[in-house]
Amino acid sequence: MPSYEVEIAIAAVIKAAQLCEAVRADLAGVAAIEKDDRSPVTIADFGSQAVVCHMLKTALPDVPIVGEEDSADLRRPENAPEWAHVTAYVQRFYPDATPEMLCEWIDAGNGEVADRFWTLDPIDGTKGFLRDDQYAIALALIEDGEVTVGVLGCPALPVDLDDLERGKGVIFVAVRGKGTQMARLDALDFTPVHVAHAADAAAWRFVESVESAHGDHALQEAIAQAAGITRPPLRMDSQVKYGAVARGDAVLYLRLPSPKHPGYREKIWDHAAGTLVVEEAGGRVTDMHGRPLDLASAARMNHTQGVVVSNGVLHAAVLDALTSKE
Ligand code: AMP
Ligand code: MG
Repeated sequence: MPSYEVEIAIAAVIKAAQLCEAVRADLAGVAAIEKDDRSPVTIADFGSQAVVCHMLKTALPDVPIVGEEDSADLRRPENAPEWAHVTAYVQRFYPDATPEMLCEWIDAGNGEVADRFWTLDPIDGTKGFLRDDQYAIALALIEDGEVTVGVLGCPALPVDLDDLERGKGVIFVAVRGKGTQMARLDALDFTPVHVAHAADAAAWRFVESVESAHGDHALQEAIAQAAGITRPPLRMDSQVKYGAVARGDAVLYLRLPSPKHPGYREKIWDHAAGTLVVEEAGGRVTDMHGRPLDLASAARMNHTQGVVVSNGVLHAAVLDALTSKE
């Protein structure tokens, strides 16, 4: 499968996943720093962004990276202990890294949208990470307005939701025109995945955020029911939800605007990788009005309202149900 870019993206996400899991193993000692927008960030978010950006910039110095974090939060005097702590984790992979280099690597992820760029969420689902729940490292390459490579590292996702003995930790890799594959993070045993098309509606299930403030649980439930889904929702943090649709754990992922935050605009790094993972597995992704996601014009998706991710077959029924609820 891999082109050079795909190889680099996979290697970077695996290294970031190792760093995140090392931090999580000491989770009791992990505090969340509050960013200016009051969202939480941990030393693992910074460490993950540093490692991924360092690897991408070493391999492909001219491709900008639009990432979620910047070092300003870490450099604040009250965060000196976290700065030292994250440096120590990154030194496990790069023994010569200094605190200053760490910040440079993080800030290599403060690039701008361009004709060809990466977008990175070093830890998508920070709240899930802190709860010892689901999270993802999400990396996408966007070329001429289209996602061409999408990689999702999902260290806490069971290999098989119906057989937990098979352990957890998977990676999804999608390449435009070449399908989506999944592997165990520790084995890289890639096999193709496909969305589910069960004829029996009783088996259908939808997935949504754990955090009620990141969507509209009541409306999501009503729309899923209108589309014929009767099972209770599966709730998961992060773009792991896209992986769940891509491999058939769920037939639908709904993320409708939260009534509490009507002006919220989704960020590209929260969707770019997941979108290709689902599309290349045979599914469909649009906003709630049926428009393609606005992933290549700015860091925020200013022309996108709500996100609908489906197995393809259900998509029209879901968009119709949304129109009739308006
Ligand atoms: P999830 O784990 O799917 O709930 O999504 C986590 C992401 O939700 C975070 O990375 C945030 O960027 C994003 N987020 C924060 N506030 C909102 C909001 N009001 N609506 C939708 N997404 C949000
Ligand atoms: Mg995120």
